[in-house]
Amino acid sequence: MSKLTIVSVKNSKLIKDGIAAINLPPAITCPGAGVCKQYCYAQVGRQAIGPAKNFRLRTLELFKTNPKQFEQTLKKEIHQAGRRIVRWHDSGDIISLSYLKIMVKLAEHFPDIKFYTYTKSHKIVLKFGYENLPHNLKIIQSYGGKDDHLINTNYPFARVFEEEEDIPEGYTDCSNSDYPAATTATKIAIIAHGIRKKRFTTT
Ligand code: SF4
Repeated sequence: MSKLTIVSVKNSKLIKDGIAAINLPPAITCPGAGVCKQYCYAQVGRQAIGPAKNFRLRTLELFKTNPKQFEQTLKKEIHQAGRRIVRWHDSGDIISLSYLKIMVKLAEHFPDIKFYTYTKSHKIVLKFGYENLPHNLKIIQSYGGKDDHLINTNYPFARVFEEEEDIPEGYTDCSNSDYPAATTATKIAIIAHGIRKKRFTTT
């Protein structure tokens, strides 16, 4: 079996729920990011250095230089990873409309796999249209970017809260498990921790 070059099955928060991840480098792939760039948790720690950083940079490079091969490699690796749930962007975001179209194509190719992502790229998703997304691609609008005013609360969304007691009724706390976010939850709460105490991110 060949080594995975884009898909990751090692994220500690996701692994317990059997979720695979596809990641891009943070900040440079986040057209909707605002002040979160300064505090982005994906820009610190293990994710920001060495192999993890290079892994993400190579993924971005492949998308930019050969999007067809990017898509084909993902088809092969998503199949090989064998997970029922795939998260786009534990770091990074939807970089462009053509990128989103590849996300859509992959969801259509794997109708039995649930794909999901948090995003601050609201302009791009609006251009495609929430109503045009396949049933198995869940896009969760994340507050804290520069285009929060474009968030449509008729579709899934997520907010960061300082403390558990700040979470209003009706939200699902996904701080410790992304499983509800990936499946049924539509109002998602994440408790800030560590660098996120400076807030602004769910992605
Ligand atoms: S917090 Fe999310 S949107 Fe903001 S820079 Fe980091 S990965 Fe990008």
